[in-house]
Amino acid sequence: MIKPDAVAEGHTGAILKMIEEAGFRVVAMKKTQLTPERAGQFYAVHKERPFYNDLCDYMSSGAIVPMILEKENAVTDFRTLIGATNPANADEGTIRKLFAKSIEANAIHGSDSDENASIEGSFFFASTEQY
Ligand code: GDP
Repeated sequence: MIKPDAVAEGHTGAILKMIEEAGFRVVAMKKTQLTPERAGQFYAVHKERPFYNDLCDYMSSGAIVPMILEKENAVTDFRTLIGATNPANADEGTIRKLFAKSIEANAIHGSDSDENASIEGSFFFASTEQY
């Protein structure tokens, strides 16, 4: 998911280019905006974290571009492509190093397991929107 900061600043195309050039196939994609409640559902796992409310406000502050991506070793390879959560610690050439503004407004989300990728894909897309 391309997050509100990166969408608002016009980085969607550049990020999508990096994703496709890294060998990912786009199975589904759209532009939408989360309500604070839906952002809270998406990040429910972080409910007890001190930054949870800020995160929900930020994630519902503007348009996002969720996608379902396909590749061998997709979860691991995507996390390598996006870089560390805090852009200050992200490797050169990663999406977060190039486009993130802060540890919170960090440009992009990637699922942390195949199981969560499936859950998060269903959160945004019906099966008839996946090709
Ligand atoms: P990710 O898997 O790299 O996205 O990182 P996490 O699952 O740990 O955190 C989810 C999201 O919460 C991150 O991508 C950030 O947008 C935000 N986040 C993580 N840590 C912090 C923090 O310490 N402060 C704030 N404000 N936001 C954070």
